[in-house]
Amino acid sequence: MSTTESLAETTLTSVDPATGEVIASHRIADEQEVHAAVDRARTAAATWGALTYDDRKRHLLRWASRLVEKSDELCDLIHAENGKPKDDAFLELLLALEHISWAAKNAEKVLKTKKVSPGALMSNFGAYIEQRPLGVIGVIGPWNYPVYTPNGSIAYALAAGNTVVYKPSEYSTSIGNFVARAFSEANPDLPDGVFTTINGYGATGAALVRSDIDKIAFTGSAATGKKIMAAAADKLTPVLLECGGKDAVIVAADADIKAAADAVAYGATMNSGQTCAGVERVYVDASIRDQFVDEVKKILSNVHPGSDSKASYGPMTMPSQIDIVRRHIEDALKNGGTAVLGGPESVKGPYIEPVVLVDVDENSAAVREETFGPTVTIRTVQNIDEAVRLANDSTYSLGSTVFSRKQGLEIARRIKAGATSVNSVLGFAAISALPFGGGRDSGIGRIHGAPGMLEFTAPHSIAVQRFAIPGMALLSYSRTERTMKLLRRVVPLLHGRNK
Ligand code: NAD
Repeated sequence: MSTTESLAETTLTSVDPATGEVIASHRIADEQEVHAAVDRARTAAATWGALTYDDRKRHLLRWASRLVEKSDELCDLIHAENGKPKDDAFLELLLALEHISWAAKNAEKVLKTKKVSPGALMSNFGAYIEQRPLGVIGVIGPWNYPVYTPNGSIAYALAAGNTVVYKPSEYSTSIGNFVARAFSEANPDLPDGVFTTINGYGATGAALVRSDIDKIAFTGSAATGKKIMAAAADKLTPVLLECGGKDAVIVAADADIKAAADAVAYGATMNSGQTCAGVERVYVDASIRDQFVDEVKKILSNVHPGSDSKASYGPMTMPSQIDIVRRHIEDALKNGGTAVLGGPESVKGPYIEPVVLVDVDENSAAVREETFGPTVTIRTVQNIDEAVRLANDSTYSLGSTVFSRKQGLEIARRIKAGATSVNSVLGFAAISALPFGGGRDSGIGRIHGAPGMLEFTAPHSIAVQRFAIPGMALLSYSRTERTMKLLRRVVPLLHGRNK
């Protein structure tokens, strides 16, 4: 994939990150085309938003079935454009399908009109909260999980009755278009514009943010998220930002050491470490440290990147990330850390072998910045308080993991993060009903589950006067002195008895 971006460019070229071979070319959408796509989506929103929940469910599930039908072709494309092994591509698709299904089947339950109590003073009213779709949602996606991640916004926005204009990452444009095309193929009876893509680099994404959309749902780096929020402020366009992470694992003295090592080894290196909620830092109790480090080393000694069917994970998708990973390893070693597995020599072209770093200074880049590579830092702690303090000392707060036989839940509750997996890694990302997202540099808002669905709606409050109470018209000039006298007697009874 070409990494340069220029306004004069009219096409972007998609390449296989393992071989550099060209896969496809895509026309770049300029500002006018972006606006035209949003206009089409606005028109389609009138039809799509007016359908019943059952109708939308039928269309979304047909889309899922179409993706299943074309799963071999899609997994081959994910392998070619993103680099990940085909089995990992299939697993990613499976998780995306689970979310489509959950969103389709739960939209009505989450969003149906709720009757609320009007309170004593307004007892002659009926009070209702209706969750309305926002209209047109702009979705900007990353490349690391090119189906699963943007789908956390797309499927939920559609299920809630919105239409979607999606700009896939420039590193996964073919995949993004494949997924959107499957929606149209499965639903030829729907108008054009319910779910469409616009292709391009950051400039196309920026044009989408400036356009007449009702919300922007972005997944990507914190640096880009900040630019998007600043640009969205111009029209007070609401933002949902799913950004990076520097996720910590706490391994307590009573942990199942083998299970914890297995989870850390997988969580740190799968998808070449290019996982927003992947394992980046580990804090292990001193009493089990040596055993744990040996076990992680043993597992990762047999884990290798490649492009063949035996590879544990693929190449780095984005060439510029390779230098960042190398810098973090070198910086960790310069700052007192030791590589117990691999080292700077593990960075071999597009492939990076697993690297395990111990006793790294907590202020080094490898501990503070998102590495996004198949590396992990392991630090020894004296107790859980120290582990929690270090885990929470980060500008990110996305996911986290705890291994403890007896105190897992208790420790999880002390971690500042959007999600915690206890005695497993990334469990929360595979449970559709659980919201996913973080705070600080990890972003704003949540995808998945009921909170993720509500992100794409706005509450509409409706107060219906069912009958008038003579003399009790509080919000009228016909209010009487008798009413006010009565109110002065009633208010102390309602609100003045708590001394
Ligand atoms: P990125 O920020 O470089 O790009 C993300 C998207 O933003 C791309 O589509 C890009 O074209 C677009 N973009 C770039 N500049 C823009 C601008 N000024 N205006 C609008 N759009 C713009 O991120 P990336 O490298 O594609 O993805 C990796 C990052 O994503 C990592 O930090 C990772 O942790 C994060 N991520 C987060 C989650 C999550 O759910 N929290 C999931 C996956 C990835």
